[in-house]
Amino acid sequence: MRTDQDQPVRLEDYQPPNWLVETVDLDVSLHPTASRVRATLRLKPNPAAPAAAPLALDGDGLTLRSIKLDGAPLAPESYAATPDRLSIAQPPRHPFVLEIETQVDPSANTQLSGLYRAGDTYCTQCEAEGFRRITYFPDRPDVMAVYTTRIEAEKSEAPVLLANGNLVEAGDIPGTTRHHAVWHDPFPKPSYLFALVGGVLGHVADEFVTMSGRRVALRIYVEPGKERRAGFAMDALKRAMRWDEEAFGREYDLDIFMIVAVSAFNMGAMENKGLNIFNDKYVLASPETATDEDYANIDGIIAHEYFHNWTGNRITCRDWFQLCLKEGLTVFRDQEYTADQRSRAVERIADVRVLRAHQFVEDAGPLAHPVRPEVYREINNFYTPTVYEKGAEIVRMLRTMLGADGFRKGMDLYFARHDGEAATVEQFVACFADATDSDLEQFMRWYRQAGTPEVAVTVRHDAKAATCTLEIAQMLPPTPGQPVKETMVIPLTLGLVAPDGRDLPLRLADGRMVERGVLTLTRPAETYVFAGVPARPVASLNRGFSAPIRLTANLTPDDLRFLAAHDSDAFNRWQALQTLAVTLLIDNVTALRASQPMRTDAGLVRALETILADPRLEPAFVARALTLPTESDIARELGRDVDPDAIFTARNALRATVGEGLGAALRDAYRRLADSAPYSPDAASAGRRALKNVALDLLAASGSSAAIAMAARQYSSADNMTDRMAAVTTLSLHPVRERQAAIDDFYRRYRDDALVLDKWFALQAAIPEAAALDRVRELTRHPAFSLGNPNRVRSLIGAFAQMNQTQFNRADGEGYAFLVDHVLALDAHNPQVASRLMTAFKSWRALEPGRRGKAEAELRRVATASSLSTDVRDIVERSLAEP
Ligand SMILES: [Zn+2]
Repeated sequence: MRTDQDQPVRLEDYQPPNWLVETVDLDVSLHPTASRVRATLRLKPNPAAPAAAPLALDGDGLTLRSIKLDGAPLAPESYAATPDRLSIAQPPRHPFVLEIETQVDPSANTQLSGLYRAGDTYCTQCEAEGFRRITYFPDRPDVMAVYTTRIEAEKSEAPVLLANGNLVEAGDIPGTTRHHAVWHDPFPKPSYLFALVGGVLGHVADEFVTMSGRRVALRIYVEPGKERRAGFAMDALKRAMRWDEEAFGREYDLDIFMIVAVSAFNMGAMENKGLNIFNDKYVLASPETATDEDYANIDGIIAHEYFHNWTGNRITCRDWFQLCLKEGLTVFRDQEYTADQRSRAVERIADVRVLRAHQFVEDAGPLAHPVRPEVYREINNFYTPTVYEKGAEIVRMLRTMLGADGFRKGMDLYFARHDGEAATVEQFVACFADATDSDLEQFMRWYRQAGTPEVAVTVRHDAKAATCTLEIAQMLPPTPGQPVKETMVIPLTLGLVAPDGRDLPLRLADGRMVERGVLTLTRPAETYVFAGVPARPVASLNRGFSAPIRLTANLTPDDLRFLAAHDSDAFNRWQALQTLAVTLLIDNVTALRASQPMRTDAGLVRALETILADPRLEPAFVARALTLPTESDIARELGRDVDPDAIFTARNALRATVGEGLGAALRDAYRRLADSAPYSPDAASAGRRALKNVALDLLAASGSSAAIAMAARQYSSADNMTDRMAAVTTLSLHPVRERQAAIDDFYRRYRDDALVLDKWFALQAAIPEAAALDRVRELTRHPAFSLGNPNRVRSLIGAFAQMNQTQFNRADGEGYAFLVDHVLALDAHNPQVASRLMTAFKSWRALEPGRRGKAEAELRRVATASSLSTDVRDIVERSLAEP
């Protein structure tokens, strides 16, 4: 295990590799505790590197068994091998072949990086630096090689043997109980995309015919007996393959595409070339075991990993600083896929909620970093919302500024220019500049500067001159290491909505029209005067969330209610309601902390009623509109002196007011939306269920005992997991007799189903009451709980820290101490999951002084612990650094 390495890696120190690898021939003999790996590397000097460079290969915990150069064993004095490095000081000056034999213990690999076992299945995870845990290698993404992989195993233990590429050979090994398979991947790839799998697996098979008429075999491998639950994932895969052809002109390239679902996985899924490996949570679904949200996640993640075949695999990253090049771009692509498959407005709202809940919070705290960081100590800690979600927003802004045609031209040029290469962010952006003849120099600051821009708009109407003036100022707050910022380019999409609800033409006073409704802000302050505006309009700003900014404007509550009812931009209808609710909630949090009475906002309730009664709106949108800002949303908007108890009280009061105020309409909606047809996961059906269940939850929040009875009835009569889960979640928020009965019943029904049992743990971890911590502690002793399974850790400890704001942030600091105890216990086994848990402290400085002190004490307890992993040390030291 790598511990306490304190050498930061810097972008400015990048050097091309001294040696290139043309081909890799791997011969892996699987064994539970002693798997043998023979790697034959065909190396050649890199013409771009200094002559006579030494050869240094990365390792991590490896044991060298033998080494040969051009077929002859190497003399011991001519090389040096440690667990972390294999170096040859004076390698030949010409191409040569190096044969390396190592041995690894997959069963002892609890980090789940490299070759490990998920249950009894052998599998690999090599991103970012796992390949060096299998064999010595120049383990960096700009070394791209052609791989041939031979796998050998006991037939009984691993009848299925898979690796990247196409199958070229398979058969029994005569005179033994073993067999083998040989896979060849003709596309050069970096080592992080290597994968192999061996195990007892069932599968579903299908076929896809590409746009040029090639037949591609599709396989999804799952635990035997769970094949039926892979049908939706297969359907999603085929839709994703078709969409990428239609939307981006990208065709699949191998003869076969495989997905393997495993039960122990650190992340969501991994895009290994031709052989994606997935957390089974994002593959397996049936109406009885998966919610609509699970189905939507599967759809999006299957698509995301598939899309990487072009954005990540065919064109990869030069170095890990460029991670957003593949991740931001591929998140943008999966968001667009979902928008086309489902509802564009609802998808945009969902994406922005995620961005604000995770990325805005990260950007405002001690872990803030640019979308392309310039230094890291542990790359595993940079798989962040900033790299992924804000990275996607940057790509979206490019499209907003260049238009759909210009954007497509830039993407086509990127694919044509860089296919087969390891590229940089500069090269990516240059494709858009070149394809559309645009200057994107200032735009590059989005990649370099951390922090969320703050944009303030003042709208003034002059009836006599029939003009409307917008004064717009932008500011980027300081972030760690970046005290002073440069002005950003901000594409601000807007509309001016006339009193009759129609959009006015956007004609500036000098006669120019605003193209596609997008103002491109480039200066700290600028003024736009619109002409031909006789009556006072309401400005609808940052439509569709065209830029990832914090926006303030001099809009009145009447203006916001007007937008909520009339804006042609659905996103801003939703945003107007959110702004009204957050404003009220923040006022009430302030009042509670000053022991003043809370206020009510009858206008907000009426605005919600209007939305609920509008038959033209799709139910999924109405469900979003009726979902009040979360406790975390309110804390984020407050930004300082956060008291989670006051936030909880204010929010609960508003939920009760809305539930009471809309009572009859909610009951009507609940009845109207009850569906007797068989379950279908399609977006329209899911939207109806979402609205029905929001209605049920608001009714229960109003204190109605009839609603509790409705929830209990829905729980027991539900024919699908969405309705059952929604009912038990609603019950869990109320200390009623029906609650424990449902929780106990849930366990009895699903005790043998790991993925559903995760829901049972998470449900209880999130109950916002004083007994929660004791309950969670008790659950860590449950026979089904294990620190060895990342999904289980996330479902109990992760859910408690992320979803239970009042109890994780207990005033006595016991919630923090609990988390730290488990981080320290987990760190020795699985540092990636441990450091992920530590990020629950990312907003600790925004807490009120009492809790802030308790959080700091726990952070210091971690910082002073002995033998921390690099992963956790990096997070804790950055969290504690002076702002
Ligand atoms: Zn990805």
